[in-house]
Amino acid sequence: MARVLVIGCGGVASVAIQKCCQVSEVFTEMCIASRTKSKCDALAAKLSPLTKTQITTAQVDADDTKQLINLIHAYQPDLVMNIALPYQDLTIMDACLACGVDYMDTANYEPENTDDPAWREIYEKRCREEGFSAYFDYSWQWAYQERFAKAGLTALLGCGFDPGVTQAYCAYAQKHEFDRIDTIDILDCNGGDHGYAFATNFNPEINLREVSAPGSYWEDGHWVEIPAMSIKREYDFAEVGHKDMYLLHHEEIESLAKNIPNVRRIRFFMTFGQSYLDHMRCLEDVGMLSTTPVLYEGREIVPIQFLKALLPDPATLGPRTKGKTNIGCIFTGEKDGKEKTYCIYNVCDHQACYKEVGSQAISYTTGVPAMCGALMLLTGKWKKPGVYTVEEFDPDPFLDALDRYGLPRREDRAPVLVD
Ligand code: NDP
Repeated sequence: MARVLVIGCGGVASVAIQKCCQVSEVFTEMCIASRTKSKCDALAAKLSPLTKTQITTAQVDADDTKQLINLIHAYQPDLVMNIALPYQDLTIMDACLACGVDYMDTANYEPENTDDPAWREIYEKRCREEGFSAYFDYSWQWAYQERFAKAGLTALLGCGFDPGVTQAYCAYAQKHEFDRIDTIDILDCNGGDHGYAFATNFNPEINLREVSAPGSYWEDGHWVEIPAMSIKREYDFAEVGHKDMYLLHHEEIESLAKNIPNVRRIRFFMTFGQSYLDHMRCLEDVGMLSTTPVLYEGREIVPIQFLKALLPDPATLGPRTKGKTNIGCIFTGEKDGKEKTYCIYNVCDHQACYKEVGSQAISYTTGVPAMCGALMLLTGKWKKPGVYTVEEFDPDPFLDALDRYGLPRREDRAPVLVD
């Protein structure tokens, strides 16, 4: 029925691709295109005997809009799934517009080179005006709203777990559980242990940039920014147990603040073990997290990219990681004139994911929503010309698909609140 072009073939993409192949009655044809074609070929060879989806592969540098346009013209997909890196969001959106194809991704745009003076000028203005200093924000992609709307195309932004499912949980709470939502706490707990002293669960460069940045939250109509890791709480997560979690800036806060009417406060917490934090602080102190190139023995290297080359590839953590993730949202607000609290979340088992698709739960909890988001677009349930985040669509068919394809929701009607 539909033909999709997937860009990227890393940890998250390989899960999304495998899940698409499980729904071959919708995903009838697929082209996997990435920078390193051999990875696409290896995955295609593994999956082709097991699925009815017709898989082809291609090499593409997604930083190059012309190459993307040529590929899209040649393959004629119904949808482009961008599961490469946030650096490629804008070039891929440009190519989709040029070719008249719907677009989706799993993370909002950030530039690879944060020293680029043209980008920096806009970034510094945004920091002053908006009050948060993360390198990523939605303004770059929201700027495509009119062009996508005029072209009759849909761009679905940030359809992983967080961002992604967490916003569908918010839309669900708004639709079914509350007349007014006052506060939202998004809690991302990874209770998995991979046995390494230090490794990241998804792309190290993107992960370390996010975690080492100042934290921030939305309160009473504006951002409150705090030093990185300076707000810590302990929480008892279902099926995981007690964990320390830290307040981070996270991209879905930005769109939820716009789309959940009158919400008073939105915070995001993520769990980290002491070993991870100690290593990260040390690496930051010695300059290894820097994105600014340094000259080493006559060659320019970017410290964080060199570090990435040394760290375990997240795609190899699958067989080693044991334990569960627990990610969800806790709400306070009002229904039928009464104060209420509510929590909706998912628990995912690292080893069960590995058994099913050969990946750990972080790639799984991102790849499954990417497939379900694509399913919503291809079946017309979320077709709406313009650029949208997940909470702007009907959450019901999406959460039904997640229940069915591996990430079932759970509810708690008397959750312990975070102070
Ligand atoms: P990986 O580093 O494992 O994979 C990235 C893939 O993109 C690789 O196949 C890489 O190719 C390819 N790629 C990179 N640059 C280019 C380029 N210029 N042209 C073509 N292909 C390119 O990353 P992950 O799978 O861990 O993450 C994928 C995305 O998912 C990221 O955007 C990440 O931020 C997002 N994410 C979202 C989450 C959510 O909950 N919403 C959670 C976790 C991740 P090569 O093999 O050559 O390196």
